[in-house]
Amino acid sequence: MVKALLIVLDGAGDRALKELRRKTPLEVARKPNIDSLASKGVTGLMYAIAPGIRPGSDTAHLAIFGYDPYKTYSGRGAFEALGAGLELKEGDVAFRTNMATIDDDWRVLDRRAGRYIEGAEGLERALNEIEIASHPEVKVIYKHTVEHRGVLILRGPSLSNKVSDVDPHKVGAKVLKAKPLDNTPEAKITAEVLNEFTRKSHEVLAEHPINKERVKKGLPPANVVLARGAGKLPHIISFKEKYHMKAAAIAGIALIKGIARAVGMDVLEVKGATGGLNTDVKAKFSKALEALRGDYDFVFLHIKGTDAASHDGDVRAKIGMIERVDEVLGWFLSEVDLPDLIIAITSDHATPITVKDHTGDAVPLLIAWDEIVSDDVNSFDERACMKGGLGVLTGKDLMNVIANFMGKLEKFGE
Ligand code: ZN
Ligand code: ZN
Repeated sequence: MVKALLIVLDGAGDRALKELRRKTPLEVARKPNIDSLASKGVTGLMYAIAPGIRPGSDTAHLAIFGYDPYKTYSGRGAFEALGAGLELKEGDVAFRTNMATIDDDWRVLDRRAGRYIEGAEGLERALNEIEIASHPEVKVIYKHTVEHRGVLILRGPSLSNKVSDVDPHKVGAKVLKAKPLDNTPEAKITAEVLNEFTRKSHEVLAEHPINKERVKKGLPPANVVLARGAGKLPHIISFKEKYHMKAAAIAGIALIKGIARAVGMDVLEVKGATGGLNTDVKAKFSKALEALRGDYDFVFLHIKGTDAASHDGDVRAKIGMIERVDEVLGWFLSEVDLPDLIIAITSDHATPITVKDHTGDAVPLLIAWDEIVSDDVNSFDERACMKGGLGVLTGKDLMNVIANFMGKLEKFGE
């Protein structure tokens, strides 16, 4: 049986950088193992969404998994909630949140309330007791995740994800009032609920003993919950129905885990997978190997460090991360004992060091498998892959190309 491993190096794509003598980090990095797969396989370029469109990691991954993000993307909050291990029900609206420090004027003094909040579970309990007087049919569910971060779910019969953020996204600004973003009664109700929750989160948190203790110690009190990125569960058919394969996902960050769960993949937890530059790459590849040796047909492995380094504008760290993945891939290739394994490697978008954010440039793609007719490309990078046999694909093509080799697609016509 043909199985497949898809490795996405988040934000690995880049531009011809001056400090690298007009080469890209992928061209400069020493990566003999990835390049050996490029020699053996077929390569090309890919635009996750469409040429020039600047994707978020969420919309890019939806597209790479074969879903039209313009039809299925319904806000980041839902993916964050799923990624944090929460169950979402039809109709729920979920938000990403920060616990922050505000003054009596509702001005933000610290968006992260000092970042580390000891005893956050106590604050979480207090927040879950908040009742919404203006709409008593709505239930509040708050879950602390890491540091100052958490997820807020509003559960009720008629709520909408078309509401604006209360998080002003900058220090010194006043906390915003949530506003409905369309004319539906659902959006209006949701904005009212969110505003009442935000007001009450301040009342509850400011008086909480954990915060009184923080103030005594000179620490910023975590005295408000700032919500953003309202989202609902997308309406989609599952990955299993679409491609007839049992799929698993390995990722360090909640957003990507959440997207994988939303499309119906099993998220495999890996100790030491942090989503940062310090992530345990080897632990992730061993988990992938275990899953492929088991009953999974398809494993998606996500590496975030390349994107994190790019947002920091740290070209050395970006090259270092590519080289670390390559080294571990070398170990994986020496261990792997599956006769028929496809390995695909790509990036969800470019995050050029000069821009420090995502851009709509094409990224390289490679697919290696024994039966594949290879091209003459011997390196996995933006320039070499221009000459690749796959030409230029978009994200929505990728799973079809892989599933076709795996023999998983139904024939169109007779
Ligand atoms: Zn990304
Ligand atoms: Zn990014």
